[in-house]
Amino acid sequence: MKKRMIVCGFLLCLIISGCSSYTYETTPNPQKEVGTQISDLAYEDHYVISIHYPKTENEELDSKIDEVIHMYQDQFLLDVLNYKEERLAEFNVTYQSYMKNDRYISIKLEFFQNIYQEKTMIETLVYDTKNEEFIDLYDIYDKDEIAKLADMAKAYFENEFPNECNSNQFKIGISPTLDNFNTFVLRKDAFILYFNEGNLFDRFATFEIPYEKIAPYTDLKREERATFVPYDQVLNEPVKLIDESKPMVALTFDDGPTKKYTPAILDALKEYNASATFFVLGTNAENQPAILQRMVLEGNEIGNHTYSHKQLTTLSKAKIEDEIEHTQESIFDITGKAPQMIRPPYGSKNDTVLNSIQDKKIVTWTIDTEDWRSKNAHTIVNKVLDQVKDGDIILMHDMYASSAEAAIILIPELQSRGFQLVTVSELYQYGKNDAGKIL
Ligand code: ZN
Repeated sequence: MKKRMIVCGFLLCLIISGCSSYTYETTPNPQKEVGTQISDLAYEDHYVISIHYPKTENEELDSKIDEVIHMYQDQFLLDVLNYKEERLAEFNVTYQSYMKNDRYISIKLEFFQNIYQEKTMIETLVYDTKNEEFIDLYDIYDKDEIAKLADMAKAYFENEFPNECNSNQFKIGISPTLDNFNTFVLRKDAFILYFNEGNLFDRFATFEIPYEKIAPYTDLKREERATFVPYDQVLNEPVKLIDESKPMVALTFDDGPTKKYTPAILDALKEYNASATFFVLGTNAENQPAILQRMVLEGNEIGNHTYSHKQLTTLSKAKIEDEIEHTQESIFDITGKAPQMIRPPYGSKNDTVLNSIQDKKIVTWTIDTEDWRSKNAHTIVNKVLDQVKDGDIILMHDMYASSAEAAIILIPELQSRGFQLVTVSELYQYGKNDAGKIL
């Protein structure tokens, strides 16, 4: 079996690292308070893998995260061995990380898998950095009062989903046992419990309760929660002069932003007064808000590449809308602008996808550099220069050193060949887009 697992974290290119001469204040990220995000992506003949997880610098926690992810991934790789359908199977991991009392680190891992049918599993790890051990519910909540917690959760679900709480499944799943209530995270302001698919309902469910409501049974107290800081300057886009009569192309970068490679691309764009379009993942956007703000500030466009990089064609309309809207909201919270363009992961689209995007446009590409395959800057550059023409939309990924290197070469080279480097919206505005590629 071919295996092309790409671990971006290992690919440090000395040429481009440290190029960025900008200092931006770190914007707090309320969803990813702990750790640096690592992304692994793989695109095989019959399946795709997209994994985002945190590296926390705590060895015990990091190796446990690794172990849990590998357990799920190995099972997926076994299950997918004989899968030969045309629709790609999929394995997808996203996370949230929280710090409580400068002591407890909570990691929530969400595993989404779709081979013949889709399944979501939530795993949580809560680590006590003071005692250097993983904890369970009874370490932070009074063991003798678990029935009180179960009653509160039950009342909440009966109120929210009155028609779904009469099943035996619900009665068993909500009964006060450690097992039922041991998938949780400690956020600064609230205690959050997760119930996996099949525990209460056929889908997973979340119960969030502020610490003050469980005050008699826990010592944990509310702390102030970080929020994204609105960045009022981001709307000051530089004025760019575009000559309608001259050729133009749009460079596009998917799957970022990444702290390692996106700033070098932005540096080159700024140096040559060029623009590009970044189709970001919601989960990465939340992880790198300052880079997102810089993109907009310097006249680039941000597009929506969904929240977690699932193949939209395998999802229900509600889930597609959730992937898109969650990302729209994250990007808007960070930059004050909502994307107008959507690029579905893997370019996969069908009628349900088209019906879920409202007034936004779906954008694919006309030149696929296959940068993830070659990971060679010169191969990427040649692939573009050999075929580039007026109106092209060029697909790259700002998650590899070789892609950033290629962009740094391509930006001045394309300009010297007479191409203006514009955003997808600008290309569209001037009617230069290749017919049928933008819907
Ligand atoms: Zn992608």
